[in-house]
Amino acid sequence: ISTQAAIVGAGPAGLVLALLLQKEGIDCVVVERQSRAYVESRARAGLIEHQIVELLRKHGFSEGMDLNGVPHTTCEFRHGGRRYMIPYGDHVHASHFVYPQQFIVQDLLQLFISRGGIVFFSHPAVKIEGLESDRAVITCTSSENSVLKVECDFIAGCDGFQGLCRSSIPSTDTKIFSKQYGIGWLAILAEVPSSTKKLVYALHKSGFAGQMPRTSQITRYYLECPPNDQLSNWSDDRIWSELGKRLAVDGDENLIQGPIVEKRVLNMRSVVMEPMQYKRLFLAGDAAHIITPVGAKGMNLAISDADVLANALIHYFRSGDEVLLREYSHVCLPRVWKTQEFSDWMIRLIHSNADSDQNKDKDFSDRLRQVRLERLQQTDTYAKLFAESYVGLKQ
Ligand code: FAD
Repeated sequence: ISTQAAIVGAGPAGLVLALLLQKEGIDCVVVERQSRAYVESRARAGLIEHQIVELLRKHGFSEGMDLNGVPHTTCEFRHGGRRYMIPYGDHVHASHFVYPQQFIVQDLLQLFISRGGIVFFSHPAVKIEGLESDRAVITCTSSENSVLKVECDFIAGCDGFQGLCRSSIPSTDTKIFSKQYGIGWLAILAEVPSSTKKLVYALHKSGFAGQMPRTSQITRYYLECPPNDQLSNWSDDRIWSELGKRLAVDGDENLIQGPIVEKRVLNMRSVVMEPMQYKRLFLAGDAAHIITPVGAKGMNLAISDADVLANALIHYFRSGDEVLLREYSHVCLPRVWKTQEFSDWMIRLIHSNADSDQNKDKDFSDRLRQVRLERLQQTDTYAKLFAESYVGLKQ
């Protein structure tokens, strides 16, 4: 088949891009490695930045979020037996929305397909050719062993960190920046209401613990662990006991225990690829950069990239002018790096062992963390700077 823009990956980046192009009458198709049921049930992110909420609303993609999402304006840090409430929304007159990523994907897919959009599910892209010629070609396979060839003017690589697109760019034309923090998080999804409606970051001497409400009946929890820890080390009983201990402020935490439906170990690392484009191929979202989940930014960056790329493609197809396409990386990367910087700051706030310094002095780091939390509570300008990055204002 032949199209103007071929999008690889039906995650948040690929679907927002597809909808924005479709809205402007640009011909596009999406190819996706997994089945529709799989992508619609993949629970990952949940915190949507203010500017992404505005973007989804502006384009009419926010019905589900507006109906079922919950605005958030305060988060809570816990350290040394004290609570630090940070009403970040008040500092910048903006709020987050909590609305799970799989619901966003469901909403976007439903909208795109109901408007006549084409998604080839269970069709992994296996080869990309012709990036240096007039038309590029993506080869996909399917479970029936049939081959689908998509010929297009441009390819949007929205296929996540393990996808094919990034590796189709010659290594001589890119630079990869990366950082390993030597920290792991056990990410847990439990079918229980959270003990408080706020996002909680607990800085405990046994390690970090986080409590992030997703819906009234589902909560995501995080527990710091070694980056190569085995799931077999984490029975449900041990998880609830560690959460109870690390989240407690006054000796106990009224955790509501219930079924744990998912657990996985995440390695805290960040990667940025520069530039995010090569000839007819443009990367968006996790395909171009990954970020630790500490500041809850990955999906937000992915949607922001999709918006920039959509504008550039729409401009090109209307006018034949490639200037915005050429500028794509230059527009996206400053935001990506500002977000990485915030995430790096946040990881040092949450973890006393996040420094690469060999002579890590945890007690020294712990005093710095306490000062940061006190300044967040007491110093308006400090709190405002945090709030701007945390809630995600236009940069
Ligand atoms: P993806 O969502 O990874 O989508 C890529 C798609 O491409 C997938 O559907 C994949 O199947 C498909 N694909 C891959 N290879 C191929 C191929 N060869 N051919 C065809 N299709 C292919 N971010 C936030 O903003 N806020 C949060 O609160 C947050 N919490 C998180 C919690 C956890 C536990 C995790 C793991 C992540 C979290 N993130 C968060 C990060 C966020 O989930 C990702 O950054 C986001 O999914 C990136 O979107 P994407 O569209 O770029 O890529």
